[in-house]
Amino acid sequence: MKSSDLLIPTVKELPNDAKIISHQLMIRAGLISKLASGLYSYLPIGLRVIQKIEKIIREEMNKSLAQELLMPVAQPAELWQKSERWEEYGPELLRFQDRHGRDFCMGPTHEEVITNIAKQYLKSYKQLPINFYQIQTKFRDEIRPRFGVMRSREFIMKDAYSFHIDEASLGETYQVMYQTYCNIFDRLGLEYRAVLADSGPIGGDSSHEFHVLADSGEDVICFSDGSDYAANLERAETLKVVDPDSPKEELTVAETPGVKTIDDVCKLLDIKPQSTVKTLLVEGESDTLIALVLRGDHELNEVKAAKVKGIKQPLQMADEEKIRKELGCSVGSIGLVGLSIPIIVDYAAAGLSDFVCGANEDGKHLTGVNWKRDVAGFMEVDLRNVVSGDPSPDGKGKLEIKRGIEVGHIFQLGTKYSDAMNANVIGEDGKAVNMNMGCYGIGVTRIVAASIEQNHDDNGIIFPEAIAPFQLIIVPINYNKSNRVRDLADELYEKFLKQGVEVLLDNRKERAGIMFADSELLGIPHRIVISDTHADNGNVEYKGRNEVEKNEIEYNSAVDFIIAKLYK
Ligand code: ATP
Ligand code: MG
Repeated sequence: MKSSDLLIPTVKELPNDAKIISHQLMIRAGLISKLASGLYSYLPIGLRVIQKIEKIIREEMNKSLAQELLMPVAQPAELWQKSERWEEYGPELLRFQDRHGRDFCMGPTHEEVITNIAKQYLKSYKQLPINFYQIQTKFRDEIRPRFGVMRSREFIMKDAYSFHIDEASLGETYQVMYQTYCNIFDRLGLEYRAVLADSGPIGGDSSHEFHVLADSGEDVICFSDGSDYAANLERAETLKVVDPDSPKEELTVAETPGVKTIDDVCKLLDIKPQSTVKTLLVEGESDTLIALVLRGDHELNEVKAAKVKGIKQPLQMADEEKIRKELGCSVGSIGLVGLSIPIIVDYAAAGLSDFVCGANEDGKHLTGVNWKRDVAGFMEVDLRNVVSGDPSPDGKGKLEIKRGIEVGHIFQLGTKYSDAMNANVIGEDGKAVNMNMGCYGIGVTRIVAASIEQNHDDNGIIFPEAIAPFQLIIVPINYNKSNRVRDLADELYEKFLKQGVEVLLDNRKERAGIMFADSELLGIPHRIVISDTHADNGNVEYKGRNEVEKNEIEYNSAVDFIIAKLYK
């Protein structure tokens, strides 16, 4: 393709909202254009990159024998009412009515629609297992769309859904998908990790997320330095630590006027947060309050808390007024001694002795508190987020924490949707069984951003060859003035086209400096410069995008040289 036939809207100015490098570079390189919050147009060069990613995904999904189909963006409310997600999904689900006043939504995901298809067309166990996928536009009315296409409201997803006669078959396809995802992300040239994710009611190892490692990532992932254990922060478990030492101190009331936070307590009493506990109050199932207790320096893991028996779903912090009414003090003053509501203690807090907590009275704290001696009854569970240096839950090594961008998610759903929608097949024994289901998502447009987060320098994007909009750019100097340069450039361009190389010839009437800058900004992996000076020696200049050195190579060997680089 020639630049004169292509929109290359590179820009210098940055929009104020472009906080992370991939967003800045996608705007500057003219890959995307913002329409409104979380809504982007994919411009010609951006779309080329997306299509390359889609091609790799298609090839690998087809190899796994998944079948491609395409479902509508608009979905009728009735399907979502059947699965009870019409109410559950919350404001991320964009609902609207058609001209007849019927309720619809813009599909944020397609479990309901695909289960409806499965119900219609799958009748016998002989048709199973079967796996369908699509590459399609999703809409999620994200509360905070940001970072360009990284978290947008409209985005492209590859989503797949498999159907099975039993859990064992689901487990097999899940493994195939796991490997397929590894193949896809390997081919995309991403540095990624698969991590265990929270799998809701199904439990076990039935959900994995694939994260691209990047400091700008919104997710926190935890790895062991001594094994291949890896999990996201929601899921990463903590172990029950040692039993507490026996008490050394007396239970004592300390005057702490005006003190509300752990920091204030520590300053006043000259202690570390590690020897205090904090108590959070949540709503229980039967309108009672439940106390969750953590070490002062630890954070509550809400996913873990929501799973504790007796706690109301979804997790709901108790409101100030109710706490004051029932316990007679403010949240910051709640203590454990004499507390008459159920007490759930995180393992780490339960390992403390002689610690400090509230006194159930404003302006006072208790010191020298010990569990067995001073607290009536409590249950120990894993309630907190892991921190760097925690022992790995598999007993091998310590946990390290890094940031990641979630680009894929695979999940064993079990029979949640087939139960709700009565999607069954006749089994080998002639009885109807609801199908087991798996779902598998990849954020296609998010991958473009994630790749750029990992592959860039001060001059712009450095696309991996597999997803670059072009493999090669030819930059002729004075194309529109020097006949010799023009002829050499055109001839070479034609030769590359014949060889099937995706080549861009920059024939714009721009200064050489601008053409060089744009070629770097666009991140095209290979560049050939043709000029009269090089031509005097029968040469052209070559530079790889991720190399510093420029080299002269013979004009006549340029095609072989590039082909050798591309298919090495
Ligand atoms: P997140 O936690 O980032 O919101 P999710 O758990 O909601 O993601 P899934 O429902 O598993 O995501 O969707 C599958 C994939 O779609 C994700 O792994 C991610 O790559 C992509 N994705 C999800 N939400 C967005 C979004 N708002 N913008 C771009 N891509 C997205
Ligand atoms: Mg989400």
